[in-house]
Amino acid sequence: MKKRTKIVATIGPASDSQESIEKLIYAGVNVFRLNFSHGTHEYHSKVLARIRTAIKKTGLITGVLQDISGPKVRIGELKKEFFLKIGDILEFVKEEIVGTQINEKTYRLTLNQKQILDKLKVSEYIYLYDGLIRSKVIAVAPDKVRVVVQNDGILSSKKGINFPNTKLGLNVLTKKDKEDMLWGIQNEVDFMAISFVQNADDMKNARAIVEKEGASIELFAKIEKFDAVENIDEILEVSDGIMVARGDLGIEIPYYDVPNVQKMLIKKANNLSKPVITATQMLLSMTRNDRATRAEISDIANAVLDGSDAVMLSEESAIGHNPPLAVQTMCNTIQATEKNFPYYKLSQFDMHDTADSINDSAVRLSQSLQTNAILTITSSGNTAKKMARYRPSQTIYAVTHSEKTAKILTMVWGVIPAFSVSGSNPGTIMSELITQGLERGVLDIEKRYILTVGDPLGVVGSTNMIRIISKYEMNFFKELKNAN
Ligand code: PGA
Ligand code: MN
Repeated sequence: MKKRTKIVATIGPASDSQESIEKLIYAGVNVFRLNFSHGTHEYHSKVLARIRTAIKKTGLITGVLQDISGPKVRIGELKKEFFLKIGDILEFVKEEIVGTQINEKTYRLTLNQKQILDKLKVSEYIYLYDGLIRSKVIAVAPDKVRVVVQNDGILSSKKGINFPNTKLGLNVLTKKDKEDMLWGIQNEVDFMAISFVQNADDMKNARAIVEKEGASIELFAKIEKFDAVENIDEILEVSDGIMVARGDLGIEIPYYDVPNVQKMLIKKANNLSKPVITATQMLLSMTRNDRATRAEISDIANAVLDGSDAVMLSEESAIGHNPPLAVQTMCNTIQATEKNFPYYKLSQFDMHDTADSINDSAVRLSQSLQTNAILTITSSGNTAKKMARYRPSQTIYAVTHSEKTAKILTMVWGVIPAFSVSGSNPGTIMSELITQGLERGVLDIEKRYILTVGDPLGVVGSTNMIRIISKYEMNFFKELKNAN
């Protein structure tokens, strides 16, 4: 099953068995997401062990993304649901109370991060229950904030609350997040996604935690706050990748701006060769139904055409009624869209370093020679990422010694992390790669390939050789292998 755009699937109660996890890998999942907004460490450890077993059993390299829940702001407990009508007043207080109706039109409640009340100003909007109820601040006092409700709706305990006009200055890593990150470090996850990032400092703080433990894990910034959109350049600079987290983003910024912001974020990530995941509600109706809506199919296709490295499933695969079918639907849509993909036409890119220029040339050569695939020997995975940004029509086989590098390339568009080869100099490694490639049927002796490698081997950023491989070279390397 050939596809370029990768699939991230969230594991949950509907998909956490050994059998389900294997089914999902065969259906096309490249990266599993463990959502730390739910579940205990014991639960996630069990799931992770099953994922690792599944990788061994299927022989398919699959990444693991740990999604750190972050400081989701929620209202407190309510005595009973509030049946809100336009014009009703909500009074947020700092005391620890159970929310309740206090007179015909007024309700009193609290929230889990009370310091936010000090930041609110009159006329700012507040959205409740994932955006379903809109309200506007009408009065602020030291101990309470009054807001007027602008549409009817039913509000129940602990629902999410968003402040699209207010810079909250949140500490994005809560105590729980830090404990969860330590779990991720100990269990060697491949990626961590940091929620509600506001600026570069939030990502630097996350990086410091990982580095303090001597670990190196790819850190993805979830772009889901309005200030993150404003600060995207500085955030990208210090992140290994981003997620267009449209669930919360669509509340934080006007819903009609989300498609343009998605395109802008993807374009910026592509330009820096940093993987970008488009997430949330991609096949939401499949949580209950067997068939997706036309709009959902279009959404996946457009995310692919925009340049996403990966598209993501959340409740569809975590609590949905048929997770493998959701993955299959996503996979079919990706494959159909990629039949007519603007390969090697996405954009003009900036050259940030010499590696960018070298990879630009390698892909250009591969395009004009119409090679069958691109082979790259990479130690950090950067070469493969830098090639992928051009979205070439050829598959990029990234050959690496490092299991970690192979895993992080599961998130990168068009890259197949390939068999790890042994060898200590470029000559032996190339002959090993070619004989193995021919033996396994990955390479066709009648076709041409581009191969890039760094000499000396294994030095990050050392790619300095672009080689055209055809029948003559393949025979040469086969013989070299036999002679050794
Ligand atoms: P979440 O993040 O699923 O953790 O909320 C994704 C989003 O907000 O889109
Ligand atoms: Mn979110």
